[in-house]
Amino acid sequence: MLECFFVVVFFHPSQAPRLPKAGETIHGHKFFIGFGGKGANQCIQAARLGVKTAMICKVGKDFFGDNYIQNFKDNDVHTDFVWQTSDAATGAASITVNDAGENAIVIVAGANMRLGEEELQKALTAIRKAKVLVCQLEISSQTSLRALQMAHDNKVRTIFNPAPAIPDLDFGFYRVSDVFCCNESEAELLTGYSVNNVEDAHQAAQELLRRGCTAVIITLGPQGCVVLKAQDKTSTHVPSTAVKAVDTTGAGDSFIGALAFYLAHHPDMPLEEMARRANQVAAVSVQAVGTQTSFPFKRDLPADLF
Ligand code: ATP
Repeated sequence: MLECFFVVVFFHPSQAPRLPKAGETIHGHKFFIGFGGKGANQCIQAARLGVKTAMICKVGKDFFGDNYIQNFKDNDVHTDFVWQTSDAATGAASITVNDAGENAIVIVAGANMRLGEEELQKALTAIRKAKVLVCQLEISSQTSLRALQMAHDNKVRTIFNPAPAIPDLDFGFYRVSDVFCCNESEAELLTGYSVNNVEDAHQAAQELLRRGCTAVIITLGPQGCVVLKAQDKTSTHVPSTAVKAVDTTGAGDSFIGALAFYLAHHPDMPLEEMARRANQVAAVSVQAVGTQTSFPFKRDLPADLF
């Protein structure tokens, strides 16, 4: 049984004393290439917890694409639905970080945008058999919505992570989301409410739920998350564990990957309990540097989380 996840963007971070101006060349301290993309991160976190995962995505027929596929294989992710195209390069994010920690990022979605109906049809048999499908917005929003609809029509549970957020999100996304999971800034952009604390998150969750999803989770960094289910009138604050965070990059993806794991392995567990456990997994990830490199494996976590 597989879970299917989207989509791929590479990271190429450079560290430099300051960000270059237009036309300028400067020396940096360090350059490295990392694997990323929300879908890939979430998929790998779920796989590390012990669920059978598959990725549906498209990469370029290039060095990055080959490495990307190898990284999935190294993490026990099925790659039967990872296509390679020579029409576009593997999606990439070029990131420059200055000494003050500020960054300048250029994302080129590349091959990601070539994923469409044809590939989804090829994956449909697997999607039908999956327990959970997770989508984000790093591919075209039509493809993402179509995949969610396919899963929803086949009674596969769906998690939709509306990231990177777009202001006028098609309301169809809400109707096909069993769990609509976003962070504070995404909730703010989508609802127009300012979301700065737990109380604000309760209100934003009500607004998102009104749009038609079955449940909403808004993650709140060190404060954990707020969970609201359609059958309940009030939302619940699920606090996180207090830890010494060293790098919170990718915490949201670790949370969603863990949530997918619990939905697949413990489908009858209350969503609040899944969120409590996902908080704990994500709290481990913030205590190490990097994104996928910081995601814990089953062996790193207490047995009572499984
Ligand atoms: P990112 O964009 O960096 O991936 P995000 O903004 O999508 O993150 P957050 O809301 O910051 O997501 O964090 C997701 C989850 O990670 C939180 O709900 C919480 O469980 C955990 N988390 C994040 N930061 C901390 C922290 N400092 N201490 C403990 N847990 C944390």
